[in-house]
Amino acid sequence: MNAARRPLVAGNWKMNGLAADGLALARALAAAPEGRAALLVCPPATLLAPVAAALSGSRVALGGQDCHAEEAGAHTGDISARMLADVGCSHVIAGHSERRADHGETDAVVRAKAAAAHRAGLAAIICIGETAAERDAGRAEAVVAASLLASLPDSARPDNTIVAYEPVWAIGTGRTPTVDEVVAVHAALRAALGEPGAATRILYGGSVKPDNAAALLSPCDVDGALVGGASLSAADFLAIARAL
Ligand code: PEP
Repeated sequence: MNAARRPLVAGNWKMNGLAADGLALARALAAAPEGRAALLVCPPATLLAPVAAALSGSRVALGGQDCHAEEAGAHTGDISARMLADVGCSHVIAGHSERRADHGETDAVVRAKAAAAHRAGLAAIICIGETAAERDAGRAEAVVAASLLASLPDSARPDNTIVAYEPVWAIGTGRTPTVDEVVAVHAALRAALGEPGAATRILYGGSVKPDNAAALLSPCDVDGALVGGASLSAADFLAIARAL
């Protein structure tokens, strides 16, 4: 594996957590011993500041779940990448399939958001993934490679961009691709990235749990995981990280 590709396990808490449980989770993760994988949590926006304080001095990094493409302005309810950096984030997720589905985010929108992340000094975790129909039609590799290239801003480099391959049909469903299917898509994504692909981290996401993490994350082309449901349990999240 390329030395630049330290494995990363990132937790996407989605729209879950009030102050008490979010802080308890953050404190449990902050107390975890150093391991092979880097750790990142992406809490809901309301918890970014208290979780930043709870994680201060720990090995766990902080990320946002989304950002606006512009730095500031009349965008009620939105959060800019600069605001995320200001509260202590080092990363932001861009183009999660739930944002693409719920908010109509296209590859072009994701590209603009990732560019904004880079301007603010954040690493962008760019999510792409095929639907069940696209996989059944044998188009998974082609669809995700095209979506990735259309979602990557010109500013993307291996040190500010992480790719998360998340099959839409595997998110929150308990269903996962086979290891061979994951390997095939990761290889297609790395090839699509060209030369920078060798140093770019590509995560797998979609129903990763402690009992399937070792198998899904063991191939050398898989640089870690983006974890949804299982990231809400410190024990499960840390067990996934230990599987790497
Ligand atoms: C996700 O939301 O990015 C995700 C992978 O969710 P889950 O692990 O719950 O499938």
